[in-house]
Amino acid sequence: MDADITILGAGPVGSALALLLADGAPDPSRIVLCRAPARPPAGQAWAHTADPRAIALNHGSRLLLQRLRAWPAHGAGIHAIHVSQRGRLGRTVIQDTDFGVPALGSVHTYGSVQAVLHQALASAGVTLRDGHAELASAGEDAIEINQNDRRWRSRVAVQAEGGPRAGTPGVLSRSYGQHAVLALVRAAAPRPGWAWERFTGEGPLALLPVRFEDSAEDTYSLVWCCAPERADQLAALDDARFGQALSEAFGDRLGPLAGAGPRHVFPLELRWRREPVAGRIVAIGNAAQTLHPVAGQGLNLGLRDAAALADTLHGWLRAPEGDPRPRLQDYARARRADRAVTAGVTDFLPRVFATRWSLVEHACGLGLLALDALPGVKRPLARQLMQGLRV
Ligand SMILES: Cc1cc2nc3c(=O)[nH]c(=O)nc-3n(C[C@H](O)[C@H](O)[C@H](O)COP(=O)(O)OP(=O)(O)OC[C@H]3O[C@@H](n4cnc5c(N)ncnc54)[C@H](O)[C@@H]3O)c2cc1C
Repeated sequence: MDADITILGAGPVGSALALLLADGAPDPSRIVLCRAPARPPAGQAWAHTADPRAIALNHGSRLLLQRLRAWPAHGAGIHAIHVSQRGRLGRTVIQDTDFGVPALGSVHTYGSVQAVLHQALASAGVTLRDGHAELASAGEDAIEINQNDRRWRSRVAVQAEGGPRAGTPGVLSRSYGQHAVLALVRAAAPRPGWAWERFTGEGPLALLPVRFEDSAEDTYSLVWCCAPERADQLAALDDARFGQALSEAFGDRLGPLAGAGPRHVFPLELRWRREPVAGRIVAIGNAAQTLHPVAGQGLNLGLRDAAALADTLHGWLRAPEGDPRPRLQDYARARRADRAVTAGVTDFLPRVFATRWSLVEHACGLGLLALDALPGVKRPLARQLMQGLRV
């Protein structure tokens, strides 16, 4: 057999899995990681060819990446999250002091997370192969993989190549009728350490503090979800008009807001693989579930997938002639609750706040007030968003 485990996709989830598996593997070179450059969503061009996402990593992800010596150096800590609803009463605040953690999370660019993981991989002993790879065939004993002109057999294949295409068998798809406008913005009255999630009739709008080597504390990364046509209009506005539209939607909690730099648009869809395991093939991260970005859960959940899969396969890697399929089924069972709860929360929130039914909007406002007044309800929800479900 040519390889024990082949991971297709070296995004943050595939890369973290490779590092986790290599740590303690008898021969890390039998783990193959296939890397291909990321592509922007259809019809988009990324300035600077870099992925423009700012990623909020929660406390659990921080512990995992620190263990892998892959924690990005520059990041802005989140010490409080303010959740509100536009035009309605009701808000809730989640603070790190409620949980006794140094920070609820921190914000990094997608590129900086990738860069530290790839740096750590350079000395992990894993076999790195460049280019798009494909599952060619699945047999009883092995999976055949194609990449460029190369073909090899692997005992297990891990799909970590990001969101599956609509129409992939076994994948449930739902369009939110929303696109996300991504941009950097400046606030006249910044509040360091605070992140903001605001639900509007168009969709959720998040402002996350960011810290680059040279940025001041007034810079935020915006994720503004709205109808596709509106997203295109917003992306085309000049900085001043964009800032005005944003201030109108967000309110005055941070003073006037101003656009700073290029804007990007991401289409938002739910993709949900009912069964992440099929024989010797297992899907993790976005390949298993691509979520709405509300509450910044996708990568955090994907890293939990990677940690759980590595735990499941470590023992097997010591005697890989044994059948891995029962272990992969154990993995699927162990991940069921966390995947379902996280996907459920991120699917429910953007839709319920955007019904535009007055009664529902009032109920949501009351829900936020109740959440603030009832620590017994707020804590489990915040803990799920911070660390995921531990079963
Ligand atoms: C606007 C927005 C904001 C977000 N904010 C947050 C946040 O704050 N917090 C959070 O936790 N999550 C957030 N997410 C979600 C997060 O970006 C994803 O969950 C995360 O990137 C998933 O990582 P992944 O490695 O599974 O997939 P990806 O990041 O998609 O990486 C997949 C990799 O596989 C490669 N690849 C694809 N096909 C192949 C192939 N055939 N062979 C080899 N390689 C291949 C791709 O080039 C890519 O490098 C956000 C998402 C969006 C859209």
